[in-house]
Amino acid sequence: MFKNKRLSIILINIAVIIVAILVFRSVAANMSSKKIPYNKFVEMLNKKQVKKVVIQNDKIIIMPKKGTKEEKSILYTGAINNDKLVDLLEKSGAEYSQNVSESNPLITFLIYGVFPIFIILIAARFLFGAMDKKMGGGIMSFGKNTAKLYAESQTGKTFNDVAGQEEAKESLEEIVDFLHNPKKYTEIGAKLPKGALLVGPPGTGKTLLAKAVAGEAKVPFFSLSGSDFVEMFVGMGASRVRDLFSQAEQKAPCIVFIDEIDAIGKSRDASMNSNDEREQTLNQLLSEMDGFDSSKGVVILAATNRPEILDKALLRPGRFDRTVIVDKPDLKGREAILRVHSKSVKMDSTISLEDIAKSTVGAVGADLANIVNEAALLAVKNNRKVVCQEDLDEAVEVIIAGKEKKDRIMSPREKRIVAFHEVGHALVTALLDHTDPVHKITIVPRTMGALGYTMQLPTEEKYLVSKEEMLDQITVMLGGRSAEEIEFGSISTGASNDIERATESARSMVSIYGMTDKFDMMALESVKNRYLDGRPVLNCSETTATEIDNETLNIIKQCHNKAKDILDTNRDLLTRIAEKLLDKETLNADEFMSFIEHRNDNPEL
Ligand code: ADP
Repeated sequence: MFKNKRLSIILINIAVIIVAILVFRSVAANMSSKKIPYNKFVEMLNKKQVKKVVIQNDKIIIMPKKGTKEEKSILYTGAINNDKLVDLLEKSGAEYSQNVSESNPLITFLIYGVFPIFIILIAARFLFGAMDKKMGGGIMSFGKNTAKLYAESQTGKTFNDVAGQEEAKESLEEIVDFLHNPKKYTEIGAKLPKGALLVGPPGTGKTLLAKAVAGEAKVPFFSLSGSDFVEMFVGMGASRVRDLFSQAEQKAPCIVFIDEIDAIGKSRDASMNSNDEREQTLNQLLSEMDGFDSSKGVVILAATNRPEILDKALLRPGRFDRTVIVDKPDLKGREAILRVHSKSVKMDSTISLEDIAKSTVGAVGADLANIVNEAALLAVKNNRKVVCQEDLDEAVEVIIAGKEKKDRIMSPREKRIVAFHEVGHALVTALLDHTDPVHKITIVPRTMGALGYTMQLPTEEKYLVSKEEMLDQITVMLGGRSAEEIEFGSISTGASNDIERATESARSMVSIYGMTDKFDMMALESVKNRYLDGRPVLNCSETTATEIDNETLNIIKQCHNKAKDILDTNRDLLTRIAEKLLDKETLNADEFMSFIEHRNDNPEL
């Protein structure tokens, strides 16, 4: 009936209470009484039929004697100012008294004192309850933390669910063992670890690892984000920290996981605009970590992707004294993660997860989980019962470049430009020595903006990149625009992303990797936020900065010329592959390589 369910509950409650009061009052007021005229009362007195009389302000209550007609009821009549009444009462022999309250004082107190307060309290509770919900926690729960308590069965994760993070798992296994059997450690006199800091880029599985520790140790798991502590009101965060620790101690042994700890753990002196609330919260966290007794088995795990901004006090022994690096997975790691996630997905037996791992350099666990899921969705879309390699390949491309945009209509000329641009990249790749082989060339536009792209597939995982490789990579990036210049004699906006990446690489060769003669091994830029965007920060004078720009430009010019040379000498090959690509829209590695091999057989072509 009411749109607002809560309002209707309030109204029903109030109605029930009002009815209850009325019933109560009517019982108290003796509903069985009967009114009689005053002369009848006088008559009854005269006839000595009255047992007891109670005189009140405005009425007289009469209790008749037994054996009279009205013996079963209580009678009353209006009080009249009658001087002779007392004489009459005396003569009748009735027992009489004045001003006795009509009901029990306790009942009166309940009705007039307690009930209204009760109603106000109920109404307030409902109203604040409604506001609480709207404000997401607020009024009634000020200072209470919003930690979610997952029981052991709910985390349900084990180390088997975390792949490709073997070192991290190894460091955390000790904590699991300690939670299982704290005595083993305390007996020998060892101090138990209070906390560990999980450091790594987003999506590498830090939360997953923390849950797995709780799952392995079969202990409850409290999880909270750093930003949950920091509220608008000063002191709130600190009280939440206190609350969290007192809850955790009650549930010990347990794991407390604080995600994004940098939200509260930011270095206190680093920023100009200090934040009282954050500092107070941090201080409280520090003192709670010092204060709690680790032998009880509370382990604090915290995650961050900006370890460099954390306050040093957080990292000192006795607090988060262990740092567990959870880095981006390598080739083997990526394959293992894909395997973990494909367990629950029906896969064709011929699928090579290794190939997928190879084509996803730099992907983190969350990306890989997403790729497997995307492949399963594609299989359903294509009416397949199992996921096949094609779905996985397509999923990788969807994650990297977005979905195919088949309805985008490009003019034939634009299509031609894109085809030459992509073949430019591919041909330079194939003809240089220090590059990864071409995996696929396509001119099917994608939703994320690419009009076409060339995919390379590394044959092995590389941890070091040589100067030659870097130069060749830059040359490949500039190959697209070079092909446009050679074929059309004009240039387009299509190379903006190539230019950006090529410049970034060339610049880091000069300023970070010390790969130029001019600056030798001088560090001119340093990388901040290693686990986030890795943006370099310049630490040299302005004059040097100008020279860095000049050196960068030199590298780019040199690579651009090299790309143009290669394409110029292989112009015929460029045209033939581009025509084929225009025709087929996508060329796979074999189709592309057959052109290259054919050229080697017939050098005059
Ligand atoms: P983080 O906390 O580091 O940002 P999460 O732990 O929230 O990352 O990871 C998000 C999801 O990505 C996980 O739920 C899991 O499905 C997947 N994932 C990430 N890393 C791994 C890994 N090493 N092994 C298996 N799955 C992973």
